[in-house]
Amino acid sequence: MILRKRKKPRPLAKLDAIIPRLSPAFPRLADIKKDAAQRQRGYIGEKKVDYYLDNLASKHTILQDVCLRVNGKTTQMDTVISANYATYIVDAKHYMDKIIFNTNLKQLTRSDGKIESGFEYPITQVENQKFHLQNYFFQHNMPNIPIYYFVAIADPSTIMEVVGDEQELAKIVAHAARIPSMILAKEDELSNAGANKLQHWNIGKQILRDCIEYDRDIMREYGIMLDDLSPGVRCLKCKMLGMGRVYGGWRCRKCGGFSSNAHLEALKIYLLCMPYITNSECMRWLGINGKNTATRLMRDSGLQFDPRHRRWIVKN
Ligand SMILES: [Zn+2]
Repeated sequence: MILRKRKKPRPLAKLDAIIPRLSPAFPRLADIKKDAAQRQRGYIGEKKVDYYLDNLASKHTILQDVCLRVNGKTTQMDTVISANYATYIVDAKHYMDKIIFNTNLKQLTRSDGKIESGFEYPITQVENQKFHLQNYFFQHNMPNIPIYYFVAIADPSTIMEVVGDEQELAKIVAHAARIPSMILAKEDELSNAGANKLQHWNIGKQILRDCIEYDRDIMREYGIMLDDLSPGVRCLKCKMLGMGRVYGGWRCRKCGGFSSNAHLEALKIYLLCMPYITNSECMRWLGINGKNTATRLMRDSGLQFDPRHRRWIVKN
């Protein structure tokens, strides 16, 4: 069963929300767009890999997008599969065209000529994840769970070449379609060797309890201030920013389109960028004058009032 389902990662959701509201003259806009495109590609790759790994869901416990805090450090794993004899970490990689692994130098060269080495080398990355997960199990009195890892190449058309130990690499890196059978083969091997059977469901539940949401402070990283973002409610029909408040909803000043709930998107975007919203900020952001209207819209949007600080937050 899939205990934890993948959602659009929060940093990507933030970037997607911010970009359409930034001025084209914002100094780092090109970097921000590049970051978003990279994250989007990673997300698509992860979902491609999910498509194959989901085949294991009937007999194993799968957690997608696992982020754990271990010894004060955050570790993120694309997929964790808790099985009868071991736990498997699968890291999804989405490369175009061709990649060359050099197992001696621990270096990967992509077809665009970019070299990933050191901590970015996919196998080093997933080894680190194993190290953190091992510590996590140890801390939770589950020290005897074997951990194995795989690097899943998301795109079936990616060509892999190896300089160095091809056989060793092939035990870890493969196209996503092959990963489920590699996991099943490992399970058979462990079973035949008389390994202890694990309570994979309980292990999965424990990890799920400790999962945190992976996040980045995108606003701070790119030096974006709230004033850099255009306020207003966006028309769902013509995409124009700045719908006017009318009785029972919003009217587009450009195309005349009506919506009863177009403000939901605007509030969602604000609260992706900021941890809370005040009444006056809500009025400014949505372009309305009435204090009571702002309060009603925020309450009806499912936000929660924090009376101590007199501001609204997303309900947990
Ligand atoms: Zn419109």
